[in-house]
Amino acid sequence: MKEKAMADKDPKVQEILRQIPQVDKVLNHPRITVFLDRIDHDYLAQIVRSQVDVFRDRVQAGEKLDLDNLYDSIVTEINDLLAPYFRYAVNALGIVLHTGLGRAPFSPDITAAMVSVTKGYSRLQIDDEGKRDDRYRKIGALLRILTGAESALIVNNNAGATLLILHALAAGKEVIISRGQLIEIGGAFRIPDVMAQSGAVMREVGTTNRTHLKDYESALNPATGALLRVHQSNYRIAGFTKEVTLEELVELGRKHNIPVVDDLGSGALIDLSRFGLPKEPLVQDSVKTGADVICFSGDKLIGGPQCGIIIGRKPLIDRIKKDPLTRALRCDKLTNAALEATLRLFLRSETELIRSHAVLGLLLRTPRMIKNQANKCARMLRKSFADRLDISVREAVSEIGGGSLSTEQLPTFVVAVTPKQGTVDELAGKLRLASTPVFGRVADNSLLLDFRTVLKGEEKIVIRAFEEMFKK
Ligand SMILES: *Cc1c(COP(=O)(O)O)cnc(C)c1O
Repeated sequence: MKEKAMADKDPKVQEILRQIPQVDKVLNHPRITVFLDRIDHDYLAQIVRSQVDVFRDRVQAGEKLDLDNLYDSIVTEINDLLAPYFRYAVNALGIVLHTGLGRAPFSPDITAAMVSVTKGYSRLQIDDEGKRDDRYRKIGALLRILTGAESALIVNNNAGATLLILHALAAGKEVIISRGQLIEIGGAFRIPDVMAQSGAVMREVGTTNRTHLKDYESALNPATGALLRVHQSNYRIAGFTKEVTLEELVELGRKHNIPVVDDLGSGALIDLSRFGLPKEPLVQDSVKTGADVICFSGDKLIGGPQCGIIIGRKPLIDRIKKDPLTRALRCDKLTNAALEATLRLFLRSETELIRSHAVLGLLLRTPRMIKNQANKCARMLRKSFADRLDISVREAVSEIGGGSLSTEQLPTFVVAVTPKQGTVDELAGKLRLASTPVFGRVADNSLLLDFRTVLKGEEKIVIRAFEEMFKK
């Protein structure tokens, strides 16, 4: 405050304040008029006014600024508004399903399906006779052949799927769940909270590490609406443990005519343990075992768009479809088209599937493949920037992420970059500001670019990001 008062009396400050032009005059400046083809005059005036206010405050606070700084800040503000936030980026973090980077990268087939439905109008729920159709018909048919489930629908995400299932089948009733399964997934998805939101009453049984069938049996009562099993996606309980199997739950549910709901989280459609990856429960096993309703994410191991997939016995799925929440949680044409294309990839032979499915392809990359690509990028970097950067290739571990198999780590190779001048954080920050942003992690005073998740050919984009940085 004191400083401001002193600055106010400073004649130089008074001079700059006097020089601030009228808003109309700023708007007529060539640096601003170039934007008129993209932003309406009135919106430009709004930006100018607010930047002039900011400028005046900064000058009064004693910052040494001139009118060029004012125009710079206006142009920066405008450019920021015009730059898309949602855009292509390089994932050099090594986390295959990174929520901040859009989880599953898409295969070309998925992208093509999304482009197709955005060309003009598109079919969403109209049949060959021109009559209103069930929008889940084709996705249901694909899921039936892939999983054996009778019927299906999709909603906004798996959190929504869990909420909807509990609401439709058990609002006002009790849902029995083991204390070992009261999970929290990142982003405030917590089973007890979802349960409360759904209107179902949570009836927890057993203990954190051990739950027995008799715990479920003795909790059963006329108010029981469902038995819920939740996959411990992102943590493991080890040591002295006991869980009730899905078989046992299904048998108990059948005996008492109570539906068994299985929240699988990731929902694997192929067994990755055959390739040395940890075993995730298979959707088709859950169907075969007899779970009545099953849900899983569309954008974890399925590798498709963000959505929650709900499959199960037709009468129950029909009940869920009629719930008013279904309308509130329903997906648009882009998601439907993308998921349909994703599921169709799984019809292929396993070899073809792995070749064409982006997420599976990344998970199954061998350390040798990753090392080759990292080496290639390191060579290109050394060729251009050996005078500015120390560059080496190192072994490391990457995560799967997205709450999938996430206690597991995968061997990988990183390009470690250390600037000879300036800090590693500055370097990492500038790469994130490149025309195609590159996201890497900082550790041990190096920027680590993890090549497990750098897609084929993207090493050129990484190089370009460095070129842009050093040109400035
Ligand atoms: C990830 C996960 C969810 C939430 O799924 P989203 O698609 O992220 O909403 C719910 N339940 C389990 C068991 C999960 O692993």
